[in-house]
Amino acid sequence: MRIVLLGAPGSGKGTQAKKLMADRHIPQVSTGDMLREAVAAGTRFGQRAKSVMESGQLVPDEVMLGIISERLTQPDCADGFILDGFPRTEQQANDLEELLDELAVPLDGAILMDVDFDILMKRLTGRRTCSVNGKLLNIYFSPQAELDACIAAGGELVRREDDNEETIGKRLDVYRRQTEPVVGFYKSRGKLRTIDADGSVDEVYARLTAALDL
Ligand code: AMP
Repeated sequence: MRIVLLGAPGSGKGTQAKKLMADRHIPQVSTGDMLREAVAAGTRFGQRAKSVMESGQLVPDEVMLGIISERLTQPDCADGFILDGFPRTEQQANDLEELLDELAVPLDGAILMDVDFDILMKRLTGRRTCSVNGKLLNIYFSPQAELDACIAAGGELVRREDDNEETIGKRLDVYRRQTEPVVGFYKSRGKLRTIDADGSVDEVYARLTAALDL
């Protein structure tokens, strides 16, 4: 299975991709995670990416094409992949089509995870990661017991650097202007399915797998 998960920041792409990866044994390819790894490694490229990400803007298309070409040709992607956070521009969508044509592995489809703006804001402003076990939590939505368990284990609830109000506003604006056209790109090719991504993780996952198995 080769699919793209589309949706605004905070729509739950990463959470759902991880569940799907565990179930279907195909890798989640998250360009955001790959960029954050480069930032953490402190490479020169990572330093440049850091400032772009902190400003809520996008890393240039040609750079992203290099990263994704390298990743999708790794052996673990041979039986499929779940793209999370790529493509984010029409140019990237075209680049991906060309790359997959060259590799002779067509995309099965794109799933748009649709969520109301107010919920996106709460998901993004409330999003935290437990420093002890890396678990994704949300101060508005996670059960208090789970939040307390992280603290009790000596952990901290860490906020992503770009999850502050100012950068979130910019990221949502960039999504509307640059990424929403990608939805039209897949729609016009008959490759788009839309799911309601409002609800619990399990409810959304059930809708996602139903859409994939159509
Ligand atoms: P994410 O974790 O997917 O929300 O990505 C975090 C940040 O990484 C984005 O706000 C962008 O600055 C950058 N980024 C991730 N994926 C891409 C992409 N496909 N194209 C350009 N920039 C990206």
